[in-house]
Amino acid sequence: MRARWVTSTKADGDFRVGLPADELAARRRAFVDLPWVWLRQVHGSAVVVVDADNWAAVCGTEADALVTASPGLALAVHTADCVPVVVSSPDGVIGVAHAGWRGLAAGVIDATVEAMEGLGTRRERLHIELGPHIGPECYEFGATELAAVEARIGTAAGLRARTAAGALALDLRAAVTAAARQAGVPVTALRSAPCTSCWSECYFSHRARGESGRMATVAWLS
Ligand SMILES: [Zn+2]
Repeated sequence: MRARWVTSTKADGDFRVGLPADELAARRRAFVDLPWVWLRQVHGSAVVVVDADNWAAVCGTEADALVTASPGLALAVHTADCVPVVVSSPDGVIGVAHAGWRGLAAGVIDATVEAMEGLGTRRERLHIELGPHIGPECYEFGATELAAVEARIGTAAGLRARTAAGALALDLRAAVTAAARQAGVPVTALRSAPCTSCWSECYFSHRARGESGRMATVAWLS
């Protein structure tokens, strides 16, 4: 089995949960023509384990990560600045997580890794990739919130960054890297992804432009 994933751009349309169901269903199928499994994301650490029997029933659950060992199901998270995280294993297990600073502070990466182990892989075998998210140069961040993130994942190098204007910033890629290492995933350097704020023609940005639209990051086993 192969793990595949893709993130939508503005050209693919808005995927935010709450749009008319038929409109959303048509857009989903046009983007990835598989049954979609989606969540009501709440910036927490709950993970839903999906399989061929429960996938329809779990849609709309309040959670921030999905994992499965079943092929042919499109696991989706929706973002506009937060990090869409895709975790895959050569043992035929995949996961997706919605990771903003609150989710990272709540332990969403750890919880996703744990749930994937429950499906028959090991954390040393996991591979992590990131979709488009807001870069530190555009992500001014409060000291109190930063301390909350560090309380969970430690004061890893690179976590505290600076915006282009020189203000305190959170580097979300460094934060996911630190969280993954803490969870026992042998991460070296995660490949960087485009900044949702810098690339406004391509991606929705809630933080930078107050947009309500959401991209979809979808992962599946084929
Ligand atoms: Zn940027």
